[in-house]
Amino acid sequence: MRVVIVGGGAAGMLAAISSSKNKENEVIILEKMNMLGKKILVTGKGRCNITSNLPMDDFIKNVPGNGKFLYSAFNNFTNRDILELLKKEGVETKVERGNRIFPVSDKAQDVQKALIRIVEKSGVKIITNCKVIKILISNLSDNEAKNNENNKQVCGVLANINGKEKEIKADKVILATGGKSYPGTGSTGDGYKMAEELGHTIIKIRPSLVPLTVHENSLKLCKNMQGLSLKNVGIKFIDLEKNKSIYEDFGEMLFTHFGVSGPTVLSASAHLLRYKNIDELLKNKKVVLTIDLKPALTEKKLDERILRDFSEEKNKEYKNCLNKLLPKKMIETVIQLSKINPEKKVNEITKEERKNLVSILKGLNIYIKGFRPIEEAIITSGGIKTSEINPKKMESKIVKGLYFAGEIIDVDAYTGGFNLQIAYSTGVTAGMN
Ligand SMILES: Cc1cc2nc3c(=O)[nH]c(=O)nc-3n(C[C@H](O)[C@H](O)[C@H](O)COP(=O)(O)OP(=O)(O)OC[C@H]3O[C@@H](n4cnc5c(N)ncnc54)[C@H](O)[C@@H]3O)c2cc1C
Repeated sequence: MRVVIVGGGAAGMLAAISSSKNKENEVIILEKMNMLGKKILVTGKGRCNITSNLPMDDFIKNVPGNGKFLYSAFNNFTNRDILELLKKEGVETKVERGNRIFPVSDKAQDVQKALIRIVEKSGVKIITNCKVIKILISNLSDNEAKNNENNKQVCGVLANINGKEKEIKADKVILATGGKSYPGTGSTGDGYKMAEELGHTIIKIRPSLVPLTVHENSLKLCKNMQGLSLKNVGIKFIDLEKNKSIYEDFGEMLFTHFGVSGPTVLSASAHLLRYKNIDELLKNKKVVLTIDLKPALTEKKLDERILRDFSEEKNKEYKNCLNKLLPKKMIETVIQLSKINPEKKVNEITKEERKNLVSILKGLNIYIKGFRPIEEAIITSGGIKTSEINPKKMESKIVKGLYFAGEIIDVDAYTGGFNLQIAYSTGVTAGMN
């Protein structure tokens, strides 16, 4: 049986490895870039967060929306399985904060290369610089159609190889073309169109794990502090219409020339995009990010700390007394927000003024406008509707012999190695069927 895999990312490679275990299969990967697994190189800031060390049951909790669809796939191929596979190929791993697993070498390239070697050793034929344009289907005979929900079956693909169009025959096709983010790595959303042409529904594509833009006044603040990364801050996104918290977190965030980014903000984006009426709320300035710059201190304790700092530098001007309290890049902004004359001697600052300063440090407000474009997102939310895919096999319920794997499916997880695990597990499941 000939199995053609469209797309040689993490999902496509694992599908190939798993499919080639059946020695009767002739397995071919068609990849439009000049190498397999280009996206793996940019993962985990070039270090590749391979998977998570959490028990597999907890993986589903980290896939907001449609997590249960992955139950069988996660069972078929676990985090232990990918680590074992990589270990056999010489990739040692380590567990870091937040149960994130990385290669000991801190090089994503080692993971990519190991997977390519395994694919090659499995006897899989790899054709790079080969862009698949269309999936070819034939009608089932009346007799066969009786036993199937539908009467369509894959029979091959149409591909562009070195500028020439060519039909490649296939008994089964696994579509693993990824999402639409970071198009430079090859994922430009081609698979959605191909699947749609065959009758599949594409759930609206949206960027997830993506930086956020901010409204005008907040933009000035962000630009002033651009490049500043804050560690150990508390963040809270609030729906101002309902006065309700949308997402809370603690950790690292970053100011940029367009707004905010960094790990906690990226995670927040996955929650925001699922929040009811979010686009309307964002447009109307009804979503605020409140940053607690001193989460370890209560307002009272922070006030005492400021008093202490100020009393040590009695005759100094306010503008010169904040270095112990704040990173340098933040001082000017906080001075402006506090509306205290920067030249005022600290011993002349009133209790009221100090109270205002404390409230800024405990709740710096940034008004969120929207999401950065999908090209900058870590993951694509939306994709092939899960109810049109058999979760036990990853096979299409619309076209016989067509399978899906990886980010193309309408599942997306939080950060922490879960997205790559989705690619491996769905890839293996598609490949073994
Ligand atoms: C900056 C960044 C950092 C990330 N870091 C992590 C991390 O540390 N941990 C984690 O778990 N996840 C991470 N992710 C997410 C993770 O990389 C993806 O979820 C995962 O790579 C998806 O795998 P995939 O095989 O489904 O798709 P892809 O890796 O996108 O692979 C799809 C492949 O299909 C090919 N293709 C597309 N169209 C065609 C066509 N028409 N014909 C032939 N080939 C085609 C593409 O060239 C590509 O090689 C990160 C993502 C980004 C962008």
